[in-house]
Amino acid sequence: MRRRMNTCAYDAREAHPERKTMPELPEVQTVVDDLIATGLAGQTITDVHVRWPGSIAALAPKAFRRTLAGRRIDNITRRAKFIVWHLDEGLTMLTHLRMTGRFYLANRDTAFGRHDHVAFSFDGQQQLRYHDTRKFGRFYIANSDTMLARLGPEPLSRQFTARRFGQRLTTRRRHLKPLLLDQQFLAGLGNIYVDEALWDAGLHPTRSSADLGKSEIRRLHRSIRKVLRRGLRNMGTTLGTGETTFYSVAGNRGRNKDELKVFRRHGMPCPRCRATIVRMVVGQRSTHICPACQKMPLPDGHDK
Ligand SMILES: [Zn+2]
Repeated sequence: MRRRMNTCAYDAREAHPERKTMPELPEVQTVVDDLIATGLAGQTITDVHVRWPGSIAALAPKAFRRTLAGRRIDNITRRAKFIVWHLDEGLTMLTHLRMTGRFYLANRDTAFGRHDHVAFSFDGQQQLRYHDTRKFGRFYIANSDTMLARLGPEPLSRQFTARRFGQRLTTRRRHLKPLLLDQQFLAGLGNIYVDEALWDAGLHPTRSSADLGKSEIRRLHRSIRKVLRRGLRNMGTTLGTGETTFYSVAGNRGRNKDELKVFRRHGMPCPRCRATIVRMVVGQRSTHICPACQKMPLPDGHDK
């Protein structure tokens, strides 16, 4: 039992290097950029082959195929952790990679692998294949617009200002870690970048969002954007060496692992103060902090 259910247990054991993480904003954006770079936008889907029906949400494989065959891909973008496929006639398809979903391009004649669940054919020999060892990833067509409408603001958008972020934080009273993971509060963050942002801002993950001071809000806003931009620059975070970790469409590993300051670094020294990084569980999620840089403030709030 690696995961403890109480909310504040310290655990200095080494995390298993192959333990899974989900693609977050920088990883999904890297995949979208790769899909665009392969020249898929502007191409028409000629056929769809569903090899495992569970990959398609709320639609039978036949209906999925019928809906997509003959549609042109106008553009591919990202919203939160979704890949958004803008098809002609205003149709939207979403892909959520969940833990181990990934795309790769293959020649149509190449034999399918065991974990290749969906294949999109285009004119010519090119085929886009969806591969997912854990099978949690999903394609959505029905309800896609409703799903997008429920999401919180994009942290790297111009509209996401420290002032608006502060209003959202202080009108809620929740622990920072689960709140920042909540996609309806803020889009795109997951376990890696939340831990990194809270360390960068020097904030404890169980601080209440309602109790943050103005300078703390500004710091957290800046730190979230900073760690996401760094992740994007490094084309995502790939942990471990197994085939179930994050890879881009081109099969490249993200380089951001070397720049992580606390995530899965428990037992190692904090890069800022040399105190030992610890692992704790907050809201049932494994959380990594520097106990010296991310102190809980005194109840009288003097260190705000
Ligand atoms: Zn520290």
